[in-house]
Amino acid sequence: MLIYARFHGRGGQGIKTASRILGNAAHLEGYFTQDFPVYGAERRGAPIVAFTKITDEPSTMFDRGYILNPNLILIADDSLLDDPIVNPLAGLQSNGTVFINTSKSIDRLTRDRCDIRLVTEDLIDLSLKYVGRTILSTGLGSIAAKLTGIIRWSSVEEGVKEELLEIGIKGEILEKNIIFAKVCFERVYPSPLPIPKIVKSSKIVTISWLPPPITIPEVRNIGNTEIRKTGNWRIFKPIINLEKCNRCGLCVVYCPEGVVVMNSEGPEIKYDNCKGCLICFNECPVKAIGYLREVETS
Ligand code: SF4
Ligand code: SF4
Repeated sequence: MLIYARFHGRGGQGIKTASRILGNAAHLEGYFTQDFPVYGAERRGAPIVAFTKITDEPSTMFDRGYILNPNLILIADDSLLDDPIVNPLAGLQSNGTVFINTSKSIDRLTRDRCDIRLVTEDLIDLSLKYVGRTILSTGLGSIAAKLTGIIRWSSVEEGVKEELLEIGIKGEILEKNIIFAKVCFERVYPSPLPIPKIVKSSKIVTISWLPPPITIPEVRNIGNTEIRKTGNWRIFKPIINLEKCNRCGLCVVYCPEGVVVMNSEGPEIKYDNCKGCLICFNECPVKAIGYLREVETS
């Protein structure tokens, strides 16, 4: 038995925690596990990926690299499907399962890949209902565990507790997360996962010394932030009420993307590049900024 699970999401969505919940729950069931994330720039909203490997035979756990041929994929944000750089379905095994957190119908996926099993749920809706905020990690980790078909709820519950306590989440929020995780666990059903191709471990590579211009990151295309349209990263869309706004300019100063501009009418958000972090909402002193779920505004 070998499960190669790959999680795709955005910074701030709890992808690493979801992969750890799966790994921890499998470990509590007595399996051998590895879990690890890979970040690019540590930027809220930026695509990230995390991996969990589960086996009952430790000799198959020799490969410690990225999972290129998963039999289970979990996607926390449906906008990643249209991102050619992320390409979240890459390498998915025939008859493998993909879970997508979405409020939309995405039948086109199974038209393009009729050899895969697609499972969807609107985790944002469920987390708002059961936790009162958008915490995806517990729901996603729980769904991943159920889709493996080898992990019981009791291990998921213990795994959720351990992971959340480790990052300082306790009391009522912890209890709400456990309820949310249980609801998610009960909403999906596993189906047999194909055996992933075993990738032979690579030989140890000695990395030679290279001069600084090659080894130190360098910004080569200055001023190109606008080209990367981060507007499709949004889950929530901030909306300014100009009647309440006192033109203090704090939203302009605090916006990490620099997409709030002050013009003669007052502050204006450039939605093509607003990633929906809601820092402006938190910082506005007169609560002139509200927000709606993106799906409600389109
Ligand atoms: S922070 Fe609030 S009050 Fe100040 S300019 Fe922005 S929207 Fe207006
Ligand atoms: S406008 Fe607000 S929500 Fe959008 S990126 Fe700036 S601070 Fe974040």
